Amino acid sequence: MSQDFADLSLGRRPEGRTLITASWVVGHTHGGHTLLRHGEVVFENGAILFVGYRFPGEVARRIDFGNALISPGLIDLDALSDLDTTILGIDNHPGWAKGRVWPRSYVEAGPYEMYGEEELAFQKRFAFGQLLLNGITTAAPIASLFYREWGETVAEFDAAADAAGELGLRVYLSPAYRSGGMVLEAPGKMVPVFDEERGFQGLNDAVAYINRQNGRHGDLVRGMLAPDRVETSTLALLQRTDAAARDLDCKFRLHMAQGTMEVDTVRMLHGSTAPAWLARNRLLSKRLIAPHATNATADDLGLYAEHGVSIVHCPLVSGRSGSTLNSFSKCRERGINIAMGTDTTPPDMLMNLLVGLITCRINDHAPDRVRCADLFDAATLGGARALGRPDLGHLSPGARADIAVFGLDDAIMAPSVDPITTLVIGGSGKATRAVFVDGRLSMLDRRLASFDMEKARQRAQAQYDGLIAKYPERSWNHPPVSEIFPPSYPIEADNG
Ligand SMILES: [Zn+2]
Repeated sequence: MSQDFADLSLGRRPEGRTLITASWVVGHTHGGHTLLRHGEVVFENGAILFVGYRFPGEVARRIDFGNALISPGLIDLDALSDLDTTILGIDNHPGWAKGRVWPRSYVEAGPYEMYGEEELAFQKRFAFGQLLLNGITTAAPIASLFYREWGETVAEFDAAADAAGELGLRVYLSPAYRSGGMVLEAPGKMVPVFDEERGFQGLNDAVAYINRQNGRHGDLVRGMLAPDRVETSTLALLQRTDAAARDLDCKFRLHMAQGTMEVDTVRMLHGSTAPAWLARNRLLSKRLIAPHATNATADDLGLYAEHGVSIVHCPLVSGRSGSTLNSFSKCRERGINIAMGTDTTPPDMLMNLLVGLITCRINDHAPDRVRCADLFDAATLGGARALGRPDLGHLSPGARADIAVFGLDDAIMAPSVDPITTLVIGGSGKATRAVFVDGRLSMLDRRLASFDMEKARQRAQAQYDGLIAKYPERSWNHPPVSEIFPPSYPIEADNG
């Protein structure tokens, strides 16, 4: 690295023009990514000025990242933003017996916030740090509502906006709301319960939040409405959400076509699949971002294509629970815009691209319908398109300087071939060396601006252990933690 690197500080936008170079640069021409061998990227005041060879102007500093790929920052539209609880269920099934559906007894006792306000704020800051470590520069956060009293709160999202501003992460925020929830009446028997007013109140709070926060922190913070799950939203709530998104000129994200419980519940309530229900009510449009489409029918996908709905594909979390988008390549052929999301721990987009490649090929029964570059496109251009941000997801003059630098010379990734193939097949965000967001240095060599991830990791563990201790309260028949989450192997006692 050149001497000039020393005058860059974490959390700051460098003065004047910065030129960065590496063995490979992802450029952009005629709407598609290109590769430049030993190319240069010049940025100033948060915007990219130049991508190419031999920049003719003056620069304040030159930084050579060596054998690395200078890439557009990754865009994560279902970005893990809490201490992930889905991993507790990886080997522990069924979900309703393991604290993933509220039993009637818990509802009657009065659901409560299992984290305090400070813990809620802390976990978001920690999760944002993890995203930056993985080369993610734009995030639309997602978190579980199982451990919440009801929806997300304005206070934690005010704190989240500040965390994003201080760490230097581009975010699309507002507290998630819902008009209903699933309640467990008997083993395996789940029914939806609704509280319409609570849903409306959540939407009103989210709208006020967006009006207040949109554009803050040098425009790193923008709004996105996030009604939580289609099966726990009423038609009126979704109609008001769509109208509010139109007024605010923002997107709304709604999970649907993602699981059998949802598909069954929506069919029982509305007589069709969720996408068909929304289409009937004219709620499918370019404003809608819809994770995960793993249970979408051919007709559902046809509706997404027809109305310009973007899918968020999260192959790691889906694959781990035994479902997949069938398939990534077929959705592309239909013309559906696909963005990517991490959604679970580890919030590693490169791992998701690898899993996405593998699951697509399994579904296609063929190796030649999808390329590593197609997944890379989804994590960059696809995300930008879903957000309606032509200035994100690529490196070219005029675009925002959201940049991830990935090492290509790590011993675990040798030998290198084509840089995109190497990165996707390597499948690990640990290759991330540096991250710039809006021209600010947000991560360098696993360090972040004003946040110690090593210390934070310890605090996160203690907080998470405290949550696990509360699981019996919302698991069917309230068994002890040792029965809800038994160890992988019997633990031998130390009798000495
Ligand atoms: Zn999700």
